[in-house]
Amino acid sequence: MQVTEKQGGTYVNGAWRNIGSRQEVKNPATGEVIDHISFVPKETVQEAIDGAHDAFQNWSKTTSSERAKRLRTWYQLIMQHRREIAEQITLEMGKPFKEAKGEVIYGASFIEWYAEEAKRIYGETIPASHPDKRLMVLKQPVGVVAAITPWNFPAAMITRKIAPALAAGCTVVIKPSEETPLTAIKLVELAHEAGFPPGVIQLVQSEPAAFSEVCMQDQRVRKITFTGSTEVGRHLMRQSADQVKKVSLELGGHAPIIVLDDADIDKAVQGVIASKYRNAGQTCVCGNRIYVQEGIYDAFVARFVEQVQTLKVGDGMDENTDLGPLINVQAYEKVERHVQDALNKGANLVCGGQGVQEKGVYFYEPTVLTDVTADMQVMQEETFGPVAPVQKIKSEEEAIQRANQTNYGLAAYFFTESMSKGTRLMEALEYGIVGWNDGVPAVAQAPFGGWKESGLEREGGHQGLESFLETKYVSVQL
Ligand code: NAD
Repeated sequence: MQVTEKQGGTYVNGAWRNIGSRQEVKNPATGEVIDHISFVPKETVQEAIDGAHDAFQNWSKTTSSERAKRLRTWYQLIMQHRREIAEQITLEMGKPFKEAKGEVIYGASFIEWYAEEAKRIYGETIPASHPDKRLMVLKQPVGVVAAITPWNFPAAMITRKIAPALAAGCTVVIKPSEETPLTAIKLVELAHEAGFPPGVIQLVQSEPAAFSEVCMQDQRVRKITFTGSTEVGRHLMRQSADQVKKVSLELGGHAPIIVLDDADIDKAVQGVIASKYRNAGQTCVCGNRIYVQEGIYDAFVARFVEQVQTLKVGDGMDENTDLGPLINVQAYEKVERHVQDALNKGANLVCGGQGVQEKGVYFYEPTVLTDVTADMQVMQEETFGPVAPVQKIKSEEEAIQRANQTNYGLAAYFFTESMSKGTRLMEALEYGIVGWNDGVPAVAQAPFGGWKESGLEREGGHQGLESFLETKYVSVQL
């Protein structure tokens, strides 16, 4: 299936464009070229912004019910085509098909949620200090939004950004990851079918730096919403300072998982596996460091390793696969480097630790390391691979101290059956998302985002809508 043969993958003002330099899109599980897209020249990025700006004049004035209706239709179309979209996700980024189906449903749930939430963009009235004055607060859309998304959730990272933007009355120019442009194309084809007016949703396949350069120099782009690495996020934040553009950043993390002595072992093992090995460890909220209290340590490690050894690595289209491939050679080399560094510094390899690297295809076994120490790379940097370092700790206090010792603050998890310990941990962890006996906490109706260097603003929940709205205070003298 060559979706882009006729389209090139860029959609501007309601029509597909096929211009620019041709790029291969590969299946990371086989190394095969599955399609091509074209990186458009800068003029086309500019044209997309022009069109989004023109479309904003009308879209921002539509009623919230009209916007909700379009979003709802788009949601329904995505749900009808969920199998086909999931297949596309697996083919271009490698995650197991069962996980890809879950991603489509998760991604679509943001559209459904914001179709409803669009109707609840409330302002305020404020009691005045003078009998002849009336004070009001209006909420209005920020304007044209540029959205830059990563490859690890090719559908959900797009819908989580643009559903609230569209609900708020903004228009959007999307640049998906160059690794996963095809899922974005499918979503936008369905948005076209849902009847969004031309210019409201623009999709641009572009060389990354060229895209941000054009957006950053254009005063009409009022907001940059980005999901990706902290390094690129920092760069975009610096660039957006010149025009004081609004920025939302969903960046990297280094999630601690704490298992206390009184944890339910089955719940903990299940939760840690879900958090750690989902998407072969390639999610921003994957557990990175596992701290297990000494009383439960041996029992936990034994049960955990037993379960990890049952996980199957393979092509995501095979229904028995639990872990697909890593996205590319850089990802593979990082995992190898982290494991080697840990072993050099005295870690114990309990299982896994081997990769398969052939013909541009990179798989890595689910790996467990024990006897790890804080100075190892795996305990400090995002590994973005299926490696679980486990460290023995003595107390709740030590767990908190170690967990917070990082510049990241996206997600943290802990397992305890004690209400008192859990409440203390929940409050002490310096993280934007906390899973208490829960390895997979993200849902559309809750705010997702990080503290510290993990980001700015939130996606999901009513907070996700706020970040696409401006506040206007109006004082009326009667
Ligand atoms: P990345 O930062 O390399 O790329 C993300 C996007 O930014 C891609 O579309 C890429 O083309 C673009 N980009 C790269 N350089 C750019 C530049 N100079 N100007 C404009 N755009 C540029 O990240 P990735 O490898 O695609 O994704 C993995 C990272 O994303 C991990 O760090 C992960 O933790 C993070 N992530 C965070 C969340 C979250 O919600 N916090 C969710 C998913 C992934």
